[in-house]
Formats: sequence, structure tokens, C-alpha cells
Amino acid sequence: MTAPLLESPIWHPFTQHGLEEAIPRIVRGEGAVLHTDDGRTLIDGISSWWVTTHGHCHPRIVAAIAEQAARLDQVIFAGYTHDPAEEVARGLVAMTPEPLRHVFFSDSGSTAVEVALKMALGYWHNIGKPRHRILVLEHGYHGDTIGTMSVGERGVYNRAYSPLLFDVSSIPFPAVGREDATLAALEAACASEETPAAFIVEPLILGAGGMLMYGPQVLRAMADICRKHDVLFIADEVMTGWGRTGTFLACEQAGVVPDILCLSKGITGGSLPLAVTLATAPIFDAHYSTDRALQFFHSSSYTANPIACAAAAANLAIWREEDVLATVARVSQGLQGHLDRLASHPAFENPRRTGAIAAIDLKVGDAGYLSGLAPLLRNFFLERGLLLRPLGNTIYIMPPYCIDADQLTRIFTAIEDAAVLVE
Ligand SMILES: *Cc1c(COP(=O)(O)O)cnc(C)c1O
Repeated sequence: MTAPLLESPIWHPFTQHGLEEAIPRIVRGEGAVLHTDDGRTLIDGISSWWVTTHGHCHPRIVAAIAEQAARLDQVIFAGYTHDPAEEVARGLVAMTPEPLRHVFFSDSGSTAVEVALKMALGYWHNIGKPRHRILVLEHGYHGDTIGTMSVGERGVYNRAYSPLLFDVSSIPFPAVGREDATLAALEAACASEETPAAFIVEPLILGAGGMLMYGPQVLRAMADICRKHDVLFIADEVMTGWGRTGTFLACEQAGVVPDILCLSKGITGGSLPLAVTLATAPIFDAHYSTDRALQFFHSSSYTANPIACAAAAANLAIWREEDVLATVARVSQGLQGHLDRLASHPAFENPRRTGAIAAIDLKVGDAGYLSGLAPLLRNFFLERGLLLRPLGNTIYIMPPYCIDADQLTRIFTAIEDAAVLVE
């Protein structure tokens, strides 16, 4: 199809420009609300794609950004350092389990995961026991670069690139009642002749895979199997970190300490792109040497950008000084109340929640209809002043923590009304 002369030269992510879907122009953000250029307001029900934690334009974070921007905007990070990065690194080490002692900066969730994979492979290479196989969880999502697509679920979104994606071993998702099959498959994969280098998981919730939830006991059991077989355990907490699941890290609920931890999204409160990959001493030590060939070969231009780090430092201060988890608990209770109400509605099924992430599925009989349902729902919500972006027939709510009871009610009223779309 030849595109006509379009209004804007911008090629948007995950957008089919050929369908002429509305692309609202946002001019201002404030708390849980976004303002459009034509004077409408939208309640941000998905934290602007899972990044905004406290709320849009949090005054402390905005002030930290402004101050840092005027002082030092950017500096090379190979061989140089600066206060905001040091503050963030020390703060993260203090907030995470003791064995995670080393902090590597990058700029997105995808790069945090790429770094984690390279650290794991580098570890086995540098200690002279090369391993290359990565274990993944079915329906997982870890980013959109070639490496992170390789460890994620395969489907329409990466079919064009599939010959270039590296081979991994996929462990079945631990659906309720099928946990034993997951653990048995993991056990077998860990014990296989080609001993895996690492297992990468999204703890407690698989986000892009459909807000699929599993319990802390399974997470713990999976980590224990990896530990037993000396397979590195990588926790991708890019979505689950920063209180989303009710605790600072989802891993805490399972008493799991990963060998490598990926954080991004909420690290700056959702204000600027930044990511970190934390590692334990053995991983760092495998790269620690007088031999330059053993150093960790990874960098991007904006590694530990000082302005982004200042935003993260302000976010860490908020976490230290305010009871963020009490706010998350309030949101979680609000979500549960609404889910309970919808649970008996004939149009919905599988109400579920982990911390401040709630999801429910619209019952759809016809799979063909399903493919067009998500954009239909998105528009339905947009017309009602809500930013929601369902995954297929799964409607999920992952609001900024400042959302109030009235705003939650508006979201759930619209969700209930959306039942007409499948009637
Ligand atoms: C969003 C996400 C990523 C990718 O993060 P980007 O910043 O979009 O690159 C990786 N892992 C998980 C679990 C995510 O939810």
C-alpha cells in the first residue's frame, strides 16, 4: 500500500498508520492526568506504558532535572564519573539485597536486559567454562532489540526477524495447577548436557505476554532449581520494580535474590530514560582483572546521563522519605474492590491482581474478532477520557500511584460499559 501524504513525518511505535487511528497530541501531564492540545483530559490508566510511578511531573523530580540540566548535562562515562550516578548506584545497592553490589548503567529496559545477558555469557566465558544457552519463560517479554526478542515470546511482532533470533529453551508458563510441569521442565533443562548459562524471568507477572500472574512460591522454586544447578538467575524487574507488585521488587515476595537484576521504567519515576543492571560479586569479579580483554565490553553514548541520574536520585529520595508502599497498597485495595465487583459480570473472566496491577479478560468467542478488539477498546476508552491500551482481550490497569478513588471509578465504569463491544 502506498501511503498518502501524511500529516506528520513521525513513524510511531506499535502503530499501523494505514488504519488512520487517532493519535492524540499531549501537551501537559499532571499527576494521573494528561492534557491534550484540544483541551481534553485523559486519565493515565497505564502509567504511560508502565513508567510513571508517583505521577506525571512530580515536583521534586522536575526540580532535580532542572537543576542538573543547568549544572552538567552529559559526560562520557567510560573512565569518568559524576555525583548523580554515584548517588543512584549507592542508593540502589542500599535498597536491594546485599549480594547485588555492582551497578551498570544503560538507558532502557531492553539495554538493561542485553547487558544482563552479556554479563551472564561474559561470566562463563571469563571463568573458562563457556556456556551459551539461555532459558526463558513461555510468553515472556524482555524488549524489542534482536537479543531481547530472542529471549522473548515469538509471534507476529518478530516474525520478520526470526531467522536472526538466537535459539533459546522455553520453559512452560506456570499457569495455576500446572506449576509442577514448569518446575520439571526447568529441572530437565538445567540438567541437560548443554548446561544453560542463565534463566531469565519476569518475576510474578509477565507483562506484555498478557499480564499473566504466578505466585511467589513458584518463583522461589524456579530460583532454587537454578541455584542447585549453578545456572545464573536473571530477574527482569523492568516492569515489576519500583513498587508495582506491592513490594519494591517482586523478587522480595519470594525471598529470591537474583544473580543479575534489571531495572528501568520507574527508576526515574518515569520521567527520563535510564536503566541499570545490578550484579553480584562473582559476576563482577569474573570481569575484574589486570587484563583489558576481560573487561565488560558494553556502552552506549548516554550511559548514566547526569540529568537522568539526577531524576533517579530524586526518585530514590522520595522512596527513602515517603511511604510509597502505603500509597501502592491503597491503590491495590481500590483495584481489588472494583475487580471484585466485575468478577460476577457475565462479559468478563479471569479477574486478577498483583499489587497495583489489575487485569481482567473480556470473554470473546471468535478468535478472528479478537485481533481487532484491542484497537476498538482503545478508542472506546479514549472517547471516555481514558488512556488504556488492552492486550488483545485483556484489559489491564496499571495506574500512577497518585490516582484517586474517583479516577479509578471512572476507569472501571468504562471497562464495565465496554462489555457492549462483545455483546
Ligand atoms: C518494557 C519492558 C522491557 C523493555 O523496556 P524498554 O525500556 O521498552 O526497552 C523489558 N522487560 C520488561 C519486563 C518490560 O516490561
